[in-house]
Amino acid sequence: MRPKSSHGAPVGLDHPGGRLARLRQPPGPPGDTGGGSAAQPGSAGAPSELTAPAILCRDCLHPVTRPEERIEVEGSHRHTFANPHGIVFEIGCFRTAPGCSRVGPRSEEFAWFAGHSWQVGLCAACLVHLGWHFASPGGGDFYGLILERLIDKD
Ligand SMILES: [Zn+2]
Repeated sequence: MRPKSSHGAPVGLDHPGGRLARLRQPPGPPGDTGGGSAAQPGSAGAPSELTAPAILCRDCLHPVTRPEERIEVEGSHRHTFANPHGIVFEIGCFRTAPGCSRVGPRSEEFAWFAGHSWQVGLCAACLVHLGWHFASPGGGDFYGLILERLIDKD
């Protein structure tokens, strides 16, 4: 009669490297591991302003104003003026131009529109000279933008 052997049941004592394989990888730069964070489905709502018609700075394509902001001043949207240096500008009048930054002092010299002072207007993105902001003491104000420095995006 032989006593039952108690050996034979494997006990995992001989795996010294077993735990190292379970270490988590440190977070890497995006795109390195191809992780599971895919683009969110169903987020199809694009902002409407990106698709609306716009009038852009010709140099940098920054949105300056929109076609519906065109107005007539003294009977016309377009006006042609010459500055004191004899340079001719063809400008269009716009009720507002959010992409045009007003800079410098207001002036009433050589006012193209009677009773209006003016201030230089630059592209808010690239600072090219886009036109002028005109304002009258009676409260009316508008932008006169140099048409050849703008492009229409339909
Ligand atoms: Zn610009």
